[in-house]
Amino acid sequence: MAEQVVAGGGLVSGAIFNPDFTGVRHLLASTARELPLFRTSKYVQSDIGTETYHGIRQALDAGHTVLFSGCPCQVAGLRLFLQSDYPNLLTCAVACHGISSPGWFQHYRAQCDIARESPVVDFSFRNKAKGWKKFQIRQVLRNGQVLQEYFGHNYFMWSFLRNLCLRYTCYECRYKGDNMPADILLADFWGVGSLHSEFDTDDRGTSLVVLMTNKGFKAIEDIADRLFLAEVDFESAIGKNPPIRFSFARPPLRRKFLRDAFRRKLPVLMKKYPISPAPSLWVRGIGKARKLLRSWIKASRSESA
Ligand SMILES: Cc1cc2nc3c(=O)[nH]c(=O)nc-3n(C[C@H](O)[C@H](O)[C@H](O)COP(=O)(O)OP(=O)(O)OC[C@H]3O[C@@H](n4cnc5c(N)ncnc54)[C@H](O)[C@@H]3O)c2cc1C
Repeated sequence: MAEQVVAGGGLVSGAIFNPDFTGVRHLLASTARELPLFRTSKYVQSDIGTETYHGIRQALDAGHTVLFSGCPCQVAGLRLFLQSDYPNLLTCAVACHGISSPGWFQHYRAQCDIARESPVVDFSFRNKAKGWKKFQIRQVLRNGQVLQEYFGHNYFMWSFLRNLCLRYTCYECRYKGDNMPADILLADFWGVGSLHSEFDTDDRGTSLVVLMTNKGFKAIEDIADRLFLAEVDFESAIGKNPPIRFSFARPPLRRKFLRDAFRRKLPVLMKKYPISPAPSLWVRGIGKARKLLRSWIKASRSESA
């Protein structure tokens, strides 16, 4: 979509990393050369900045097409700013689990950098070298070193996925389900294998594209010959993606965790709040066996009594 818009003389706005990868901001791009910067999800609140909002309004007023992508609340923010429904504006929201505190990301990155000899020159939250489902956090250092970590072992991702570092508003997000303010909603199609196995053959990822308006429908229709598409029933499609409908509850530990996160050194923090993976099947199996054994002992005791 972005390529189509730029080729037609339009502008595209989306989230990009700062040059030192310590934060995320929005950019308004007019050339195809800039588009790769928008790729990959950055799980940190992006700073849109008033110049982007004003730039978008100027471009729209001048009759250019603008494609805006961001979290649903950012699409709603843009609409509020514009105060008018421009036919040449196309909005695309990413499904949003919630967004992390930029301060915590900056602090985390700074703490990691202290322990390294060389600065980070490339950072990705969603590297698919080992597949879409087991994505990696990949960092390239100036000295050529490549650090790759399974997302479940990365401390920042752990705090994000355990909802410990989301913005306060994310726990009561207003832009869920039918309240999605965009023309198109893009999400990961979790569970696609059980609905359309032909879309889950290479573990490179499948997108769920939800067409919210006629404008969104037309935009996808225009590029349909460049996509592999299949129509799916909405309810089954979002079955494994609860954040499209609901906000996560605020964990009781959130305030304490973030307060400590800014005050303590990373190794101390990681010791106090260790990564606690969901118990493996094997561990859960032992738990179940123990339970069975206990109830069997209890039953045989009451029988003999
Ligand atoms: C904070 C966050 C939470 C998410 N939670 C979920 C979820 O719970 N379930 C789910 O299915 N999908 C979620 N996604 C969306 C998913 O990861 C993909 O971004 C989406 O499916 C689009 O995929 P893609 O390959 O087209 O784009 P990708 O290459 O993955 O992402 C690029 C697009 O995302 C936008 N983007 C990237 N980072 C940000 C950011 N920080 N703020 C605003 N916009 C950004 C860019 O502008 C660009 O349009 C989340 C994304 C983000 C940023």
